[in-house]
Amino acid sequence: MEKSKACTKCGHTKPLNDFYAKSKFKPKGFGIRVRPCKPGPRLQAYCKTCTKSGATAWLRAHPQAVLISRRKRAKQNALKAKLWANANRARRCEQDQRHRAKNPGVYAAYGAARRVRKARAQPTWADPAEIKAIYALAAQQKKMTGDNVHVDHIVPLKSKLVCGLHCPDNLRLVIGGYNSRKGNHTWPDMP
Ligand SMILES: [Zn+2]
Repeated sequence: MEKSKACTKCGHTKPLNDFYAKSKFKPKGFGIRVRPCKPGPRLQAYCKTCTKSGATAWLRAHPQAVLISRRKRAKQNALKAKLWANANRARRCEQDQRHRAKNPGVYAAYGAARRVRKARAQPTWADPAEIKAIYALAAQQKKMTGDNVHVDHIVPLKSKLVCGLHCPDNLRLVIGGYNSRKGNHTWPDMP
């Protein structure tokens, strides 16, 4: 049996190891070849170097396709992560805490961005004193009951579809945990 073959792209004769095997179950022509004509795996016509550079060139020539597949994979990974987090709540919580401790700047930036959003979402007719009173009530209840009482925006300040207001009518007290579960994807009368 021959130990080397010529690449039809670059024309160099190279050892068989320098060629990728053809995938077995790839339909070709009119049907799937069930039995190979030759024993052993059938090899690609191009050598590994040519196959790789061809792939790189294709990716460079099709940025849109790359973007789509990257988004698709990101979506699948996000779903996987969500399922895992639901099944491993305690460990996810630990991970979050570690990440927070390691990246204080990131979370400070989140907090700052949220404060800016809040300020922008606060209409001029909203009474700041009334808003303050609601937050004070939450703090007081937290102290009294020991529950993690939060002020919740009934319609979220920021989400893909809606932007709620930072005003007394859109605020309510909730026990902590509910707020983080609700996230920014739930609101009354949502579509
Ligand atoms: Zn080649």
